[in-house]
Amino acid sequence: AKTAGRNRFEVFEEAMREEVVAQSQLSRDLRRATTDGQFLLLYQPQVDVESGRITGFEALARWQHPVRGLVMPDTFIPIAEGTGTIDLIDDWALEEACRQLAAWDEAGLPPFHVAVNISAHRLARGDLADAIRSGIRSTGVDPARLEIEITETATMSCAVEAAQTLHDVRALGVSIAIDDFGMGHSSFGRLRALPVDRLKIDRSFIAALHEDTATGSIAGAMVAMGSSLGLDVVAEGVETEGQLQVLRSLGCHSAQGYLFGRPLPAEEVGQLVRRSTST
Ligand code: C2E
Ligand code: CA
Ligand code: CA
Ligand code: CA
Repeated sequence: AKTAGRNRFEVFEEAMREEVVAQSQLSRDLRRATTDGQFLLLYQPQVDVESGRITGFEALARWQHPVRGLVMPDTFIPIAEGTGTIDLIDDWALEEACRQLAAWDEAGLPPFHVAVNISAHRLARGDLADAIRSGIRSTGVDPARLEIEITETATMSCAVEAAQTLHDVRALGVSIAIDDFGMGHSSFGRLRALPVDRLKIDRSFIAALHEDTATGSIAGAMVAMGSSLGLDVVAEGVETEGQLQVLRSLGCHSAQGYLFGRPLPAEEVGQLVRRSTST
């Protein structure tokens, strides 16, 4: 074989070198991708736990690389964060989601919200509200239909500035969701100080729901905490009917996950929404 006669360290070293080359190539390609229209958004449904009806969608970015094919966010987001390209991607996603919302409105679909992910890097720049305002103005979309998702950990770094930016965003009429909730161990007090509409319970807690462990029972505490603050609580990564049943008994309001649907192209959203609201 190719590796015969070489020691494990040499093989490891070569793999590392190839990885570094691949990463730097991707980061170069990324910059071009934002201006070349290589990104797309997929939309994953969010449902009301009681009625099962679709209430909105989370927009999730994909990179259609000309050579590598479809690249997932877990590969390109960390690189984009390292190079600052993430700001361009987030602004593109905001604009694209607004454009798509206006198109769905034009097509006569019943109203539902769309949530866009915003990175810690983009949040820290301080001019997020300006970008959102311009997306709303240029498309004429109702701000109440737009939501941004900020991870719990992103709100914890430079907390004062982040809170001010979130206040500016909310003043536009846009909703704010705290993403991956539970991973940053926010206190009740911290959470109350932030302008927030929704809590998204991280998938890891939902996966542990059926377990008779501490992790399994934490989701219940998070639902109670969110509810007492008047927030809409969303469970992420719901994959089984059993998890949904537990969530219902906990009084969790909304859910998202493969049980209800995978992220899908914009063209398939209309049909799904019509089916969901007509039954
Ligand atoms: P996230 O915001 O926590 O998004 C949820 C991720 O969980 C998505 O992965 C989604 O496809 C996946 N997911 C949904 N339901 C299930 C389920 O039932 N089971 C499992 N195992 N997974 C499920 P995706 O699309 O690969 O995105 C990964 C992450 O990349 C996102 O995590 C988000 O942090 C980031 N991301 C995606 N799009 C954007 C974007 O436009 N801007 C920024 N800044 N970040 C983005
Ligand atoms: Ca998210
Ligand atoms: Ca709203
Ligand atoms: Ca999440």
